[in-house]
Amino acid sequence: MPTHKESKAEMKEHKCTTECMDSKHIYIHGEKGHKCTEECMKKK
Ligand SMILES: [Zn+2]
Ligand SMILES: [Zn+2]
Repeated sequence: MPTHKESKAEMKEHKCTTECMDSKHIYIHGEKGHKCTEECMKKK
């Protein structure tokens, strides 16, 4: 049983994509490590 609840929206584990570079990962919206940017706001 989980000992704590996730109050925030569920975040998916990051999976590397072709957009990931050597030392830079592109976290898509909804993935752990992602930080919303203006681009997120633009998209619906
Ligand atoms: Zn990656
Ligand atoms: Zn976002």
